[in-house]
Amino acid sequence: MWETRKLPNGVSMPIEGFGVFQIPERDCEQVVMDAIDAGYRLIDTASSYQNEEAVGRAVRNCGVPRDELFITTKAYIQEMGYDNTMQAFERSLDKLGLDYLDLYLIHMPFGDYYGSWRAMEDLYRAGKVRAIGVCNFQPDRLLDLCFNAEIKPQIDQIERHPHYQRAEDIKLMEELDIQPEAWAPFAEGLKGMFDEPVLLEVAAKYGKTPAQIILRWNVQQGVIVIPKSVHRERMEENLAIWDFELDEADMDRISELDKGCPSMLDTRKTSEVRRVYDYLNNPVLTSL
Ligand code: NAP
Repeated sequence: MWETRKLPNGVSMPIEGFGVFQIPERDCEQVVMDAIDAGYRLIDTASSYQNEEAVGRAVRNCGVPRDELFITTKAYIQEMGYDNTMQAFERSLDKLGLDYLDLYLIHMPFGDYYGSWRAMEDLYRAGKVRAIGVCNFQPDRLLDLCFNAEIKPQIDQIERHPHYQRAEDIKLMEELDIQPEAWAPFAEGLKGMFDEPVLLEVAAKYGKTPAQIILRWNVQQGVIVIPKSVHRERMEENLAIWDFELDEADMDRISELDKGCPSMLDTRKTSEVRRVYDYLNNPVLTSL
């Protein structure tokens, strides 16, 4: 079973968890129940995923005590700013049906995220959330936030997989005492990730799958992972990474797969910023 990482504030967080991006509300309760039953204890959702209510039902009905689970959600762009984030937090908590959160994250480095950060600091001080952090903050944004924060982020949740390894970004997080967490560890299975010859060869050597090699490569570097799957057998496969260790030569071979640029999201590209704001014009989201 998975290990835990100690966040800078001393809170323990599972190093492997379960992501629910793109799992429709109608399926999500059963999927999360299956994930918890398979052994996951960290569940990663977001207000923008529109499945917090289903996650909450699963958390309340799964039979595992609340304090053994680690629940993350995130504030999206339209929830930035001090007051908006305060309201968004209560809305998320209400949808989840919980009375505290384990981790609350700023989803994107857009909008008035400094106002949001001050709200998060207050929520943390009030004991409503056990840890606070950010997502998708590139090193410059992360460092700037650290210079201006009273409480530094505990986590930066970033796109990270063998094609985009971010060694320098992770080194900076180490210097700042911020825990890295990898989203889309499989790059959503796109761009031939599972067919990479190096991953296939390493997988064959250890009698594992490319997915397991990717997850193991992350956790061996102290990076938290939150793979998503709606299939029970893959949930179990993704958890079965604790009975082997990649040797240094194989870690080095995987390092060579780095393409040095994002496959999924580049928050510095103007086209991406436009795409994100276009997504916000989705009427379902704006009615949140
Ligand atoms: P991912 O975990 O990299 O990949 C998920 C895809 O891989 C799904 O299509 C899944 O298919 C497939 N898959 C899972 N396990 C597999 C296996 N063992 N073998 C073959 N295929 C497998 O992508 P993600 O869901 O985008 O990222 C993970 C989590 O990170 C999200 O769910 C979300 O919680 C978080 N996230 C955060 C951000 C952010 O901005 N902060 C952005 C994106 C994601 P099936 O479901 O059909 O099995």
